[in-house]
This record gives sequence, C-alpha cells and structure tokens, in this order.
Amino acid sequence: MKKRAKLRIKSLPRFITFSLISLAVIFIFGMLSVTLVTNVVSAISTQTEKAQASAALVETAQNATADTAAIAAQADAMVAPNDEDKQTVTDDTAASDDPLECTKKRLRNNDTEGLKVVFLTFDDGPSEHTGEVLDILNTYNVKATFFTNRHDGEVAEAAYRRIVNEGHTLANHTSSHNYDLYNNPDAFYSDVQALDQYQRQITGLTETSHIFRFPGGSTNANETCVSGMVKRGWNYADWNVSSGDGGSDPPGADGVTQNIVGGCHEHDVSVVLCHAESKSGTLAALPTVIKTLQDEGYTFLPMEKDYTYPRHLEV
Ligand SMILES: [Zn+2]
Repeated sequence: MKKRAKLRIKSLPRFITFSLISLAVIFIFGMLSVTLVTNVVSAISTQTEKAQASAALVETAQNATADTAAIAAQADAMVAPNDEDKQTVTDDTAASDDPLECTKKRLRNNDTEGLKVVFLTFDDGPSEHTGEVLDILNTYNVKATFFTNRHDGEVAEAAYRRIVNEGHTLANHTSSHNYDLYNNPDAFYSDVQALDQYQRQITGLTETSHIFRFPGGSTNANETCVSGMVKRGWNYADWNVSSGDGGSDPPGADGVTQNIVGGCHEHDVSVVLCHAESKSGTLAALPTVIKTLQDEGYTFLPMEKDYTYPRHLEV
C-alpha cells in the first residue's frame, strides 16, 4: 500500500503538467476557431452589404437611367472603400474641377474636337514693337508664343527677358532666318543651336522650350531638316490662321481682326501667325481680337512642347 501511494504521489506532477498542456491546446484551437468563424461571418456580411448596395443603386439606376458600371463601382466604394479608391476619386474630381487642366490634358492627348483654344504666335522678333504687344497681352491676361531670331541690343535683350518673366513661351525660329541653310542641314542645326544658347544666355533659362518654327514654315524647309529637328528633340508648329501681316501690303486693323477672328471660328485649335515687327494694323487689332474671342469662350494658351500643332509638312 505504501508503495502504491508513493507511486500515485510521484505521478501527480505529470498528471498536472499533462492537464495544463491539454488545456492550453484546447484554448489555442478554440481561439483559432473563433477567429475563423468571425472572418467567415465578416466576409459573408461584407458580400451581403455589397449586394444590398448594388441592388439599391441598380434600382436607382433604373429610374435615372444611370450607368450600371458606375453603380457597381459606387457599391464597392460604399462597402469597403480603401485608400487607393479614395485617392482615385479625389484625383478625378480635382482634374474635372479645373477646366484649364482638362484642356491641357486634351491637347497633350490630341483630343481636340470641340475645344476653343487659340495660340497667338509672333514671329521674327523681338522688335521695337514687342514691348507694346506684351503690354496688350498683359492687359487681357493672355499668354502667347514668340518665335524669335537673334537680335542684339538693349531693347531686344529686355524683350527676351520680358517674354520669359511674364510667362510667355520663348520659342526658336533660327538665329539667322536664312532660307539658304535648308541646303546645308548641319549648318542649319548649328544656327538653331546658336539661338538656343543665346536665348539662355540672355534670359538665364537653363533650358529653352524646344518649340520651333521653320522660317517660311515647314514647307519651305525639306524632309531632311524637318525630321532632323524632330530627332533632335524639337517639337515644331506651323499655323492654320494667318493675320495676313507678313506681306508687303499688310491689312489695317479691320482686315487683321477679320482674318484672325474668322480663322479661329474655323478650328477647334487655332495657331495664329502674326509678326513681331508688325505693322500698326496688327497692334491696333489685337485688343479687339482678344476681347472678341474671350467673350466667345476661347482660351488663349502659350505653347508647350508636348501638345500637337498643325504641321504643313509631315515626315
Ligand atoms: Zn519668320
């Protein structure tokens, strides 16, 4: 008896240890089971809410003939909107709230149908009249593009700086405006580069716009020079509206106004050719042209490198 009692006493700690381990195992399995069940219930609940939200929105859609794809998306957002979804919605809203950014995006995508955009461009300057042009543009809060050549002297240098400092696009129209250079492409590219360096030196710009207009337009150049400029990273623009002030007998203010306003009515995106050395007719017409088109809902923009512009010669 004594021996048996001793054995029982010795076995007691083992029994307690075994019991504690068993209890711990049961507890852990129990917790895992509860977690599993909770997750399953939560998933079912989420799906149910989602289905209910979809059903409610589809019902609304039947009344309002709304887009069912949009409704399903809304249902997702209602049940479990995550940060990514919220961010997307916010971005879309911000973009659609800003008509100017929307217009720029469409110009980048060449999605221009129905746009009313005008790019005013002034070639061959700066001249002694560039300051007057800039004053008029300031009055109407309009930004334009200046395709300049190389001109030295204080007046020209001040004009280059004003163009940049007042938010217009300083673009390249070659240093010399010499049509003969089209016969020597390397000399032509050097002439473009020379103006690029000169513009940066005068204005302090680290990089110029890389927007180019061929003297006389791209049809006066040739395929070698045109494709060479594109390969060198330049975007080039011709024009689809002319003020008519480039000839030896330029029109007066009424004629210029008619040319520009009438021309802009023909296009979703108008690139208007004017000349910087002009011509009293263009200067006198500008305020009327800008005010008329602004009142009709047109937007004036300065050129940017990643928009698409009319080209007379495609290569
Ligand atoms: Zn020119």
